Amino acid sequence: MSELKIKNLRKAYSRQIVPVKDLDLQVKNGEFLTLVGPSGCGKSTILRLIAGLEQPSSGKVEIGDRDVTALSPGDRNIAMVFQSYALYPHMSVYDNMASGLKLRKLAAGEVQTRIQEASRVLGLDELLDRKPAKLSGGQRQRVALGRALVRDPDVFLLDEPLSNLDALLREQVRADLKQIFQKQKSPVVYVTHDQTEAMTLSSKVAVLNKGLLQQLDTPEVIYTKPANRFVASFIGSPQMNLMTLPCSGNHGLLGNFKIPLPKATRSPQAIGLGIRPEHVRLAQPEENETTVHGQVFLVENLGMSYLLSIRLDGEETTLRALLPSDAHWNNEDLTLALPGDRLHWFDAKTEDRIGNT
Ligand code: ADP
Ligand code: MG
Repeated sequence: MSELKIKNLRKAYSRQIVPVKDLDLQVKNGEFLTLVGPSGCGKSTILRLIAGLEQPSSGKVEIGDRDVTALSPGDRNIAMVFQSYALYPHMSVYDNMASGLKLRKLAAGEVQTRIQEASRVLGLDELLDRKPAKLSGGQRQRVALGRALVRDPDVFLLDEPLSNLDALLREQVRADLKQIFQKQKSPVVYVTHDQTEAMTLSSKVAVLNKGLLQQLDTPEVIYTKPANRFVASFIGSPQMNLMTLPCSGNHGLLGNFKIPLPKATRSPQAIGLGIRPEHVRLAQPEENETTVHGQVFLVENLGMSYLLSIRLDGEETTLRALLPSDAHWNNEDLTLALPGDRLHWFDAKTEDRIGNT
């Protein structure tokens, strides 16, 4: 058992710079937790605190039932993979992978078995004798992963391991990572600012902003029920349409259009409304849902879909709609449906999610 627990963890570099604020997290065996958030929100600091490369200002890190907060990095049995895969240039792939094991005085046969297994999984069989200079970026990153895997650590920490790879390769290695870690039992904490990686790889996602945990849940819940406006804006591509509507009675006013407020909302002055571009659709002739009308001023062809930017009547608001590539519209005047069960409502002041719709 090597469950990872972070309790009330705080790191202050100065009074102004507090990149980790009273964080509680648990990552169970077999769980893949991704920390996601904008640059500077404290993701790498959290990993360094778990690894022991930094000391927290307060709080604890536990692995299994051991309090490791005071232990040096070498005594924590953690494997860490960074964005810049620091391989030893003078060593072969094999020796690079073995380098982490030699310190632990494993029998030579055991070292060989583990490296063979990892290199088979990572597709490095043919490359074991090569030096890093003779490898592509993707292959080097696989070696760095291999080095972590063969160590059989209690916890894996990965800090933006794919961000130096080009888009195609990133997609490929991302799929490999998913397969490899599905078979791993140790908890994984993975850091990225890329929400696609967060959504595709993780069993749980922690969304962070300015050192504070915004939401911790499965990728599905984070996408369908973002806890606040920040999470709604950060997760999803293209980004969710987000606006603030003045209210009149039990309606929000979006340009010339009235949108019924969720039940139990007591006529606020204003309310936040969100709808994802993929949930806006062309209105049917007899439409049951709320409709809005506007002018298309930009069409972006994304191959499998069109991203339309629409200026709504009576308002400067732009609504973006993602329509399937076989959608037809005759002119730039469009009537769009905003399905009620796809609307996200946020308190205008606190920005927290309202209701469970
Ligand atoms: P992320 O990985 O999410 O991009 P970091 O954890 O690297 O963010 O950094 C969080 C904040 O802490 C940033 O504002 C960064 O400038 C600051 N920071 C990181 N390391 C140090 C340090 N050693 N001294 C002072 N400030 C630091
Ligand atoms: Mg970072």
